[in-house]
Amino acid sequence: ESKADGRGKLKVFEPAMLHTRQMRNQLVGELKEAITGSQLVLYYQPIIRLDTREIEGVEALVRWNHPTRGLVMPDEFIPIAEETGMISDLGGWVLRTAVGQLKQWRTDPLTSGHNFSMRINVSAADLQRLEFIEDVREALASAELDPSLLVLELTESAVIHGNDLDRYTLNSLRRLGVGLEIDDFGTGYSSISYLRQLPVDTVKVDRTLLSALGSDPSQPALLAAVLQLIRACGLAAVWEGVESADQAEYLLSIGCTSGQGYYFSRPLPEEQLTEQLKHHKTWPVS
Ligand code: C2E
Ligand code: MG
Ligand code: MG
Ligand code: MG
Repeated sequence: ESKADGRGKLKVFEPAMLHTRQMRNQLVGELKEAITGSQLVLYYQPIIRLDTREIEGVEALVRWNHPTRGLVMPDEFIPIAEETGMISDLGGWVLRTAVGQLKQWRTDPLTSGHNFSMRINVSAADLQRLEFIEDVREALASAELDPSLLVLELTESAVIHGNDLDRYTLNSLRRLGVGLEIDDFGTGYSSISYLRQLPVDTVKVDRTLLSALGSDPSQPALLAAVLQLIRACGLAAVWEGVESADQAEYLLSIGCTSGQGYYFSRPLPEEQLTEQLKHHKTWPVS
């Protein structure tokens, strides 16, 4: 397993630990410090155009560089940030940092030859805050970036169990001109009618759909059908969890042109992605 995204590390916060109130309080306090004390760090994973191997997007994925525990993965602290209300500070930091980074890549002559959007993950709680719309507008304005260069990734459950305020926020964001994408499609509850109603442009299909390819004889037909469904709703598809050349080729053969996954790259620290951007016009694959 890679060191690059910290997946090789042990889980540092065991669920059992969190059962004691004391441990949990400590963690909450530490996370608060992390957000204000610049212990958070963004890793970036490219989204690749499967036919040309150009980089069409970069997804920002947050990690917590804990002073004694090392790199902590988002699944371990995002839920706690959501439960305690810290997610709005965390999300604000992610937004400003990712947008600032995109600005830097687009300004530096060594990397500005690329033309890709920045994708950030947005929590359900963000859609419940009216100020979120203003935060997004401000981040883009201060970086002088076209709003279409930012794509917000929303999980199915966030948008589908949503209420009027969510709808209002989504429509306002759309009017701002930012891209909206449903993340992890195929794991939750979305129905065809939701896909047609929601003001989104893109659907990112969950990696579990792709991982069954090769083992399950009915899977290729299923993947093609999912892609057709997304297209029929007038939306674009991105496939996540591309881990092999075979998978990338299969996706291309059914007409899917966007992919993301370990086959191309794990999420990388900023300096490493910058190096790639400087030296390669298209994404190199071993
Ligand atoms: P996600 O948005 O669905 O992100 C994709 C996850 O799959 C990432 O895990 C990524 O490292 C991993 N991944 C990418 N390619 C492959 C592959 O080929 N194979 C496999 N097995 N995995 C792959 P990560 O970075 O641990 O993030 C987990 C989740 O945490 C994200 O899922 C997202 O829901 C959440 N998250 C990450 N950053 C943020 C953030 O800044 N804000 C919020 N609200 N949530 C975030
Ligand atoms: Mg995502
Ligand atoms: Mg996903
Ligand atoms: Mg996910």
